[in-house]
Amino acid sequence: MLLDQLGRPLRDLRISVTDRCNLRCTYCMPADIFGPDYAFLPRTELLSFEEIERLARTFVGLGVQKLRITGGEPTLRRDLPELISRLAQIEGVQDIALTTNGLLLPRLAPALRAAGLNRVTVSIDSLDPEVFGRMNGLGTHPQKVLDGIEAALSAGLGVKINTVVQRGVNDDGLRNLWLALRDKAVLRLIEFMDVGNHNGWNLDSVVPSREVLARLSADGTGAEFTPVSPNYRGEVAARHVGADGHEIGLISSVSAPFCGDCSRARISAVGVLYTCLFAGAGTDLRAPLRAGADDEAMHELIAGVWRARRDRYSEERGEVTREQKVEMSHIGG
Ligand code: SAM
Ligand code: SF4
Ligand code: SF4
Repeated sequence: MLLDQLGRPLRDLRISVTDRCNLRCTYCMPADIFGPDYAFLPRTELLSFEEIERLARTFVGLGVQKLRITGGEPTLRRDLPELISRLAQIEGVQDIALTTNGLLLPRLAPALRAAGLNRVTVSIDSLDPEVFGRMNGLGTHPQKVLDGIEAALSAGLGVKINTVVQRGVNDDGLRNLWLALRDKAVLRLIEFMDVGNHNGWNLDSVVPSREVLARLSADGTGAEFTPVSPNYRGEVAARHVGADGHEIGLISSVSAPFCGDCSRARISAVGVLYTCLFAGAGTDLRAPLRAGADDEAMHELIAGVWRARRDRYSEERGEVTREQKVEMSHIGG
């Protein structure tokens, strides 16, 4: 089995299909940096569907079982269902998921499901229009995301919900969000992370998961939630079940890093392979692909990168400084 330097297998591949987005979340693509003059990638720079399919096949040959499509906002990529359908036909792929802000799901969910998509993770940070509008940078109303969640459920897709928690920004509204959505999907609360180079992160704005749990509960102690065992090794979210039986997940990348089980590789929209969300540099896969490298050469190149991998940034946070990190809009979380 292919293992990296810390004994971790390669199991998950996240594929970014665009660097564009129809929101400007302050913690990801702040509008003052990603403004009207920002130079997004031209289409010719993006991996084609053929190239993505070929890379996915190679990764599956190296142990990958799960694929996740992300962005920027992946639903902005034209003909996305066609890509899903190509990926769904790869033998050995057990699960295909999509991370999205949900805005385009009312239009796209049935076609994505029909193409073979299994699950979506929809991101929403608050149900308060004012708070959500401020966080998404464009004043977009949360109802638009709720409509997307309903569309995904109606299409028969599995649905999870991602919420990034920022102190003094949306932490007051967490219980409302949980009460409104717990019947529909598992809510996953993510500690605000220092991804990219522009999101103004500091430790004070992180709400540690144990405090999130307290804020979610009626009595403010968190005691109504009981931890439950993971569904599989390496599951990122620590599962908890509320007194009413509804599940939540806590993603504690800052307060309780999980690098020891990290089996994820990421490919940016231009085909650069990153072995960590916080990587400073990656390995260009597009150049050899376009230069005509055969399957065996691609297999060896990717295997070599994984074998050499030592990343454990979240465990080292505070000890190492990294000048330039890959942007979230390039690798999609
Ligand atoms: N546009 C899609 C969306 O918002 O779901 C997919 C890409 S987005 C970068 C993937 C996930 O990363 C989202 O759930 C988003 O909330 C999360 N994310 C972005 N920036 C983050 C940060 N600084 N800390 C924690 N999570 C973040
Ligand atoms: Fe866009 Fe998703 Fe980043 Fe928000 S988190 S700006 S929706 S890519
Ligand atoms: Fe994986 Fe890097 Fe996140 Fe650690 S910091 S869990 S190695 S992506």
